[in-house]
Amino acid sequence: MASPLILELNGLCAGYGEIQVLWGIDLAARRGEITALIGSNGAGKTTLMRALSGLIPTTGGHYFSEGRDLTGDAAAEILGHGIVHVPEGRRLFGAMGVEDNLLMGAYLRKVGRAELKRDLESVYATFPKLRERRHQAAGTLSGGEQQMCAIGRGLMSVPRLIMIDELSLGLSPLLVEQLVAALKALNAAGMSILLVEQDVTIALDLCHQAFVMDMGRIVRAGSGRELLADPIVRDAYLGVLQE
Ligand code: ATP
Repeated sequence: MASPLILELNGLCAGYGEIQVLWGIDLAARRGEITALIGSNGAGKTTLMRALSGLIPTTGGHYFSEGRDLTGDAAAEILGHGIVHVPEGRRLFGAMGVEDNLLMGAYLRKVGRAELKRDLESVYATFPKLRERRHQAAGTLSGGEQQMCAIGRGLMSVPRLIMIDELSLGLSPLLVEQLVAALKALNAAGMSILLVEQDVTIALDLCHQAFVMDMGRIVRAGSGRELLADPIVRDAYLGVLQE
């Protein structure tokens, strides 16, 4: 039976050329759960997602997913294994229509039109706004719609794990609420999610388990509830001073 860990990182190191950013990350994320990564600016959250999606090479440690060793694998292999990255800033093809952007997410899959259509329908069921706007250029969508489109594009790869960097950045509270509801529904249907979210309250409310990063290391871990009650987390990340 495959390991129940969708992510198992042992001593993972990575960086940019000479600059080391991640200093031995140990992390275990369970299949079927929402796992959050929190931490201050520059802690290395985005860098970790880049390393996990193969966009930057790892320089030490090991990376497994459901028992399979992905250490050193290239981005296309990692995507082929079912790990998809929704990057910060969304990176859509602005001049292309919404539906064409979504279809780009399926480019590695060798499937027929009927299956693609079924998967598009499933994305539209999660984000009905995208169906309304399917012929509109992605660059003209609102920020929230762009985030839906970026997540939808990730879902079109039919991933085992979707990693979302900065879910709520720049979005209104109402849109964030809609996105959170969509992620809860996806997770309830079995999707594993790794979330980087600067709004720590949202992240800890939503997740099953969270890891706190600081200066390229994991400094704390626990359930969302445990970390919300942790005086150090409250002081450092929620702006709640200890009594
Ligand atoms: P934020 O919440 O601000 O996005 P983060 O936790 O995602 O922060 P990273 O973006 O991973 O942090 O950055 C971690 C460190 O890596 C920072 O010191 C940053 O300056 C550095 N860094 C990020 N991208 C590069 C790059 N392309 N080249 C060199 N250093 C980089």
